[in-house]
Amino acid sequence: MTETAVTAESATPSVPAFEAVNLTRSYRLDGVSVDALRGVTLTIDQGEFVAIVGPSGSGKSTLMHLLGCLDRPTSGSLRVGGVDVATLDDSGLAELRNRTIGFVFQSFHLLARTAAIDNVALPLVYRGVSRSRRRALARAALEAVGLGHRLDHRPSQMSGGEQQRVAIARALVGDPQVVLADEPTGNLDTRNGEEVMAILERLNSERGVAVVLVTHEAEVADRARRQIHVRDGLVEADVRADG
Ligand code: ADP
Ligand code: MG
Repeated sequence: MTETAVTAESATPSVPAFEAVNLTRSYRLDGVSVDALRGVTLTIDQGEFVAIVGPSGSGKSTLMHLLGCLDRPTSGSLRVGGVDVATLDDSGLAELRNRTIGFVFQSFHLLARTAAIDNVALPLVYRGVSRSRRRALARAALEAVGLGHRLDHRPSQMSGGEQQRVAIARALVGDPQVVLADEPTGNLDTRNGEEVMAILERLNSERGVAVVLVTHEAEVADRARRQIHVRDGLVEADVRADG
């Protein structure tokens, strides 16, 4: 494996971060089919800050999984950074995900008994980055989220807010073009949720990282410059803030 450091500078601004056309995803469970997405068409540009909102079960997480190359559409086309995911095999899809996308989940998804710095460095293992460079990059990412003093702490010893900041550092460490965050403040109190939002906003404004987050909190959604409303597996409204 070689080190593929895709930086914001090398991303072509004219290529959208995501282009989805008529995207569907059906799940089959015990012979019953659930149409979680029923034909979603949308474009998200590099550097955007987007909130995806909608009732529970409307398909938000399914859409995030498709955008994040964790899953494949049942039909329709999806380009991520200009690359048609249908042209990639599973390892190609994993590589695209690894160098383009950072994930933040509601429940953090950290290794509870592994030091913060090693949690953050983990995505770099799959890029073949040397151990010393992994540690240096992980330290810098933790410092960027205000956790430079918690490098060797384990998530099990940290507050929810700190754990989510570790998860953001892990999402950032590979210098992604996009951060996808599914209910990133859902398990946090107001103050910690506020801190996580401030970090995501800073990432977006200072580094030009596109942020796509799912939320059911109006105060969180109102901070995005664009709101995509999803209902019953379809985009029901796509609203841009003025200015
Ligand atoms: P949201 O994130 O908006 O709450 P989801 O995308 O999780 O919605 O789910 C959309 C629909 O797809 C729901 O009806 C849900 O039950 C169904 N679904 C989601 N994931 C799966 C799965 N892995 N297997 C079967 N059905 C699923
Ligand atoms: Mg969900």
